[in-house]
Amino acid sequence: MDRFDPASIGIRSGHFIGGRLIDEIDEGAARIDVARPSDGVAYASVPVADEAVIDHAVQNAWSAFRQSDWARRAPRERARVLRKFADLVAADAANLAPLEALGSTRPVRDAYNWDVPFTAESIRFYAELADKIGGEVAATDHRHLGMIIAEPYGVIGAIAPWNFPLVMGIWKTAPALAAGNAVVLKPSELTPFSALRLAELALEAGVPPGIFNVVQGDGRVSGDALVRHPRIGKVTFTGSTHTGAAIMAACAQTGTRPVTLELGGKSPQIVFADAPRLDAVARRIAGAITGNAGQVCVAGSRLLVQRAIADELIERIAQAFGELKAGPTWAAGTTLPPIISEPQAQRIDAIVQRSIASGAVLRCGGKRADAATPGAFYEPTLLCGVTPESEAVRSEIFGPVLTVQTFETEEEALALAAHPEYGLAAGVHTADIGRALRMVRGIEAGTVWVNRYGRTSDFVIPTGGYKRSGIGKDLGRQAYEANLRFKSVLIDTEA
Ligand code: NAD
Repeated sequence: MDRFDPASIGIRSGHFIGGRLIDEIDEGAARIDVARPSDGVAYASVPVADEAVIDHAVQNAWSAFRQSDWARRAPRERARVLRKFADLVAADAANLAPLEALGSTRPVRDAYNWDVPFTAESIRFYAELADKIGGEVAATDHRHLGMIIAEPYGVIGAIAPWNFPLVMGIWKTAPALAAGNAVVLKPSELTPFSALRLAELALEAGVPPGIFNVVQGDGRVSGDALVRHPRIGKVTFTGSTHTGAAIMAACAQTGTRPVTLELGGKSPQIVFADAPRLDAVARRIAGAITGNAGQVCVAGSRLLVQRAIADELIERIAQAFGELKAGPTWAAGTTLPPIISEPQAQRIDAIVQRSIASGAVLRCGGKRADAATPGAFYEPTLLCGVTPESEAVRSEIFGPVLTVQTFETEEEALALAAHPEYGLAAGVHTADIGRALRMVRGIEAGTVWVNRYGRTSDFVIPTGGYKRSGIGKDLGRQAYEANLRFKSVLIDTEA
């Protein structure tokens, strides 16, 4: 699928609580208008869950956790239901992909070929783990039997961002469900609808009513009420570092509950002069900052290049930038999707203009991109002549803006790579394996890619940040275990 008619998509709005869509209009309830990033048209609205709605959702999830056999049934049986859920998601691609593309920045071709299959496969991965990870028998003397029993928390409060609504939502939800928990998921108020479809499909697959709930609303009211609810056993969040810190504080104030935080980044791409196939490197680097118009947590936003090849590499990246076509998510040829909102596009431009005013050299871009629809499109932008102190180098811009710095030695490259705040990901491009490994060890980041940039579909590899880029992991066995708590049991066998 590479195109669709935006007028053909029907939207059902509301919260999904206790196995049903709650879409009755409460005249007094606050609502948020939701606009299509591709053309700015408001196409639907969502209710804002206040404290009472959040309480209803969480109490419902808690009752389902206690009263259904979701946590108690054989893990293989839970896995069977989740595999069916994955199959239903995959089979729903022709419906889910345009729904996702309509309200987000994901071109429908990518949503159909990547986001939806990746979502289904994430569910499958956690279904497969459901009966593979248990507790332990401890090494005790023979007069005792020590057991460490893995148990679900109960209700997991999950909060997702707007940049990959389906994928981020399921990375929070699938391991929690597989481990036997109930979930209350709050998608971003900017991209609220695909999560509702996921919850419907989970129910259809046999996940008991009340085990997978979706609440709508903004962060300040609904998100805050969710993380503070006393019945939430654990919070899992993906979003900005600023919000992550607020959530951590709220969790500490309301019961010291554990929290997984997947936060922002400012990831370096380090290219040595011996990097194999410079043209492929240039395309990789261009792709890593223009994919989803740079609205990716691990966007490779800082190019660090060895001086000898800097001019040539910059030239090739600028060429690759020039080949991109801005357009709505529903058009066939779109390779540069819109920025999520007008204020976000203004923020990107403001940082670029301030950087130029304070000395950065604009190589290309630096302005709005033309497109067939009036959304907020931004040209892929290359800023040279920046320093580690430049705003464009320090701030997470979350747009298609690449800064360029040069270096001579490995030590210089490592010093430039170190960001004072973030440590999410990094890329190293070199033909020298010893150098690659020295860089891997020297870089303080949760993921380092060598001679590639970006995930494969190896779900076994977790993702998550060092420093202020986060705490804990999504994906991998680690995310499954993070949805379990461990009870120690000691039995006296001679009593
Ligand atoms: P955001 O922090 O503004 O919002 C994320 C979610 O948190 C939304 O659902 C929002 O409603 C909610 N929220 C906001 N304030 C809240 C509060 N006080 N309490 C509870 N919930 C609150 O982030 P965003 O703009 O939606 O997403 C972009 C950010 O997400 C970027 O910084 C990006 O790097 C980060 N991100 C990180 C990863 C990762 O894996 N590390 C992945 C994707 C996105």
